Amino acid sequence: MNNSKTYESIFENNKSWIQNKLNADADFFKKLVVGQSPEYLYIGCSDSRVTAEELMGAAPGEVFVHRNIANVVNSLDMNSTAVIEYAVRHLKVKHIIVCGHYGCGGVKAAMTPEDMGLMNPWLRNIRDVYRLHQNELDEISDETKRYDRLVELNVQEQCINIIKMACVQERYILEQFPIVHGWVFDMRTGNLIDLNIDFEEILKNIQKIYDLTNSHWVMSRRNLEP
Ligand SMILES: [Zn+2]
Repeated sequence: MNNSKTYESIFENNKSWIQNKLNADADFFKKLVVGQSPEYLYIGCSDSRVTAEELMGAAPGEVFVHRNIANVVNSLDMNSTAVIEYAVRHLKVKHIIVCGHYGCGGVKAAMTPEDMGLMNPWLRNIRDVYRLHQNELDEISDETKRYDRLVELNVQEQCINIIKMACVQERYILEQFPIVHGWVFDMRTGNLIDLNIDFEEILKNIQKIYDLTNSHWVMSRRNLEP
């Protein structure tokens, strides 16, 4: 890592970034001001090595981003809940991505049975993923492989938490989007791995308990259909 960068260099970098953008497109910032209509909501880890837009090759305006420790989606967390609600109801994103990464410090901490103070309630989300999949995880004797698998299962469970949300179920039933995807970034190789979460199957299965699609909005739209 380059530790020689100074605080001031950030502003110098910003100036050259502006110039590069204007050289490529003189109206770049005029277009940016007009508004955003991203097709993707990306929910990833805060880890400084997992840069959302850069690893996707995405440009400004293309991805709505939320990041927290270990890419957790919890219904009591107003931050991620508000981001998803806004992205689905107002931006009408077509895809929601949960992206974890191998070597995740948050997942590692959750595998360590000790008191982590204020981090405890947050890590509880990931410890619960371990408990849900304890049989499978305990059968993996190689610690790195067990760690990698928990990263994947954590992504999968956070995808399920998103699919439990009323706004996601309603929009999907009426418009066949958004689709929820689970990814893992492998920083050992740089690869982005699609876990191929079966969105429709999960939605069908969880609706036995979490069917939240009887809102007035959905019912009135359904009644309009021939
Ligand atoms: Zn992480």
